[in-house]
Amino acid sequence: MPSTDLLLHVCCAPCSAGIIETLLDEGQGLTLYFYNPNIHPFEEYERRKAEVKRFSVKKGVPFIDADHDPDKWMLRVKGLEDEKERGRRCQVCFDMRLERAALYAHDNGFKALATTNGISRWKDPRQVRLAGVNAVAPYAGLAFLDRDWRKGKGIERMQAVSKREDFYRQKYCGCEYSILK
Ligand code: SF4
Repeated sequence: MPSTDLLLHVCCAPCSAGIIETLLDEGQGLTLYFYNPNIHPFEEYERRKAEVKRFSVKKGVPFIDADHDPDKWMLRVKGLEDEKERGRRCQVCFDMRLERAALYAHDNGFKALATTNGISRWKDPRQVRLAGVNAVAPYAGLAFLDRDWRKGKGIERMQAVSKREDFYRQKYCGCEYSILK
């Protein structure tokens, strides 16, 4: 029976694994939710998903595989293609992913929602926080776990677990606009 304490939206294994281990150490019941329609191309999406799945099996944490949805993502970011990373396209990208995660959390009786999106130093944690707070707002009884995952040696743990597990480490954020050409 999956835990309905916390739904943790996960973006990729390198960012997520240290956070998952921290939460498990704290005795937190959790379920992982993989919804990342931003990831391009599909092979890359499958590769990142497989790495998170592998870790979830190892840790015995339930893993929810949402659909890929790239067409909806492209529609949502239309007109923002040339935005820089940390700009308006990224806000829309976080919004979309957390809105879907919050809907799933609400429909399935979760008490709280969190995301691993903000741990990377390439992301603006204020954007991630805003997306999370807005995503849970329509649902009474669903809280956003607003936690700075970088603190308390979060970055060091992220790097150490990623190295230990020999995860695939992508070289770009996810969308086609973030691929270094
Ligand atoms: S750079 Fe990353 S966060 Fe920004 S829109 Fe692309 S995939 Fe989303």
